[in-house]
Amino acid sequence: MTDDFFHPVSGFDLPRYAGVPTFMRLAHVTPAHPRWAEVQVGLIGLPWDGGTTNRPGPRHGPRQLRDASTMIRAQNGITGVRPFEALRCADLGDVGPNPADLADTMRRIEVFYRDVRAAGIRPLTAGGDHLCSLPVLRALAQDGPLGMIHFDSHTDLFHSYFGGTMYTHGTPFRRAVEEGLLDPARVCQIGIRGTAYDSEDRDFARAVGIRVIPIEEFHARGPEDVMAEARAIAGSAPTYVSYDIDFVDPAFAPGTGTPEVGGPTSWQALWVARLLAGVNIVGADLVEVSPPFDTSGQTAFLGVSILFEILCAMVPGAAEST
Ligand code: MN
Ligand code: MN
Repeated sequence: MTDDFFHPVSGFDLPRYAGVPTFMRLAHVTPAHPRWAEVQVGLIGLPWDGGTTNRPGPRHGPRQLRDASTMIRAQNGITGVRPFEALRCADLGDVGPNPADLADTMRRIEVFYRDVRAAGIRPLTAGGDHLCSLPVLRALAQDGPLGMIHFDSHTDLFHSYFGGTMYTHGTPFRRAVEEGLLDPARVCQIGIRGTAYDSEDRDFARAVGIRVIPIEEFHARGPEDVMAEARAIAGSAPTYVSYDIDFVDPAFAPGTGTPEVGGPTSWQALWVARLLAGVNIVGADLVEVSPPFDTSGQTAFLGVSILFEILCAMVPGAAEST
């Protein structure tokens, strides 16, 4: 790189609370921008929670995550990875939703991500509720089904809600499997817990061959062992990473709509993301941060810290640093 256009604004140059907040203090690059074609990783906001079935609010996620992300510095404190020097990163803005029309919003998201993919940009998304992942997968899986490593306390594999509603934040990966966007044999779901409606989602996972690692197994084996299995399941083929903040225990991440107790700590939440290094990540998201329930702001800060770890894992050769 011959200039610092794709480098974040440093806190040495401008205090972190000052300036217009973009994701990680990166340049805001829209498709019409002359440097659009140079972007390698694009951070994108999806301010939409039309699929939420319980407490809402993730539509406000991208704005708060941008603000919290001004705390992110250039270097990973543990691995030493400097992602903004290895990859040309930019804030691609938000996809404007239609909050009154679910199908129209999913179409808008898919159209935008098709452009992103066509430009060779890997998207790193800040949601939004978990239904956001479905139109993203529709855009990214055009050459065939993807693998997926999915952190969540829920499988999001239910068939339908409320007597036949097919599109909620509890159904995106059921639809993605049905639509051929995911290869179930290369999908691993980690952290599943909580009371359940029934076993319909887990039965579906078993029937199609999705590996579910429930929380009791996660705690018994630990992050290193579980993530070694997850990386083996994903293999070397293109893989999507989907990270629901409710994977983390609500003691550390209270600002979400469907919290489930008994989960990983904030330390483990970052650790598993770091252990994604080596996976062929074609895109990733961090969803379900709900600012109205995040009164301290700690959920958003954890969220952007997870996004930073995922970004570091997307750096070529990152596996050698971990
Ligand atoms: Mn979810
Ligand atoms: Mn969840």
